Amino acid sequence: MSTLICRCYYKMSCKRRNEDEQKKYAKKAANFWSMGLLSSMKDPELLMKEDDKIVAIKDKYPKAHYHFLVLPKENICSLAKVTKDHLQLLKHMDKVGQELAESHPTSNFKLGYHAEASMSRLHLHVVSDDFNSTCLKTKKHWNTFTTDFFVPSSKIISEVEKHGEVIFITKDEIKKFMDTPLKCHKCNFLAKNMPSLKSHILIHLKKLL
Ligand code: AMP
Ligand code: ZN
Repeated sequence: MSTLICRCYYKMSCKRRNEDEQKKYAKKAANFWSMGLLSSMKDPELLMKEDDKIVAIKDKYPKAHYHFLVLPKENICSLAKVTKDHLQLLKHMDKVGQELAESHPTSNFKLGYHAEASMSRLHLHVVSDDFNSTCLKTKKHWNTFTTDFFVPSSKIISEVEKHGEVIFITKDEIKKFMDTPLKCHKCNFLAKNMPSLKSHILIHLKKLL
């Protein structure tokens, strides 16, 4: 009987060890992945514009026809580290974003930050509002660009001007944005699933042509 109990404990501890190792590995992989923008900033294939303060690159997994990221050269990890001292930098990033948008006059652009970014180094999204891309696959992708989870660059600038820092939304609000039903950003169409939303948005593209 006691041998049986020992075996059970042994099996359980092996399982637990495997799970712990898998968790550790997943955490390491996520950390490694979240640093990807730092190497992309040095990738000539992705480079759009560079000056002494910023680097603008193509998003490697674009969620729309045009999708760029403007990143500071200063090591600012995220919006949480932004202070009043960064105000001029934020305005400069916005200006560079607007110039990128203006160089593609046939598209409308959104300039903003995700309320909670997944990638390290502050980055301003400059994204055309067609959202017609094979890389845009999930409800989460959709809602991060089409709900108020996407915070306009102008709003971030005015918050930092007024309060000296970015005002963060709560975890509950983030969850609410992620759980928002799939809705077209151009009309009132409610989609059953991503494939139906993706074919619906083509109607709006055709109207532009
Ligand atoms: P966020 O959720 O605001 O952190 O968005 C990160 C953005 O970075 C997404 O739009 C990704 O498609 C993009 N991205 C992820 N990895 C890379 C990479 N290695 N190089 C360039 N863009 C990336
Ligand atoms: Zn629509």
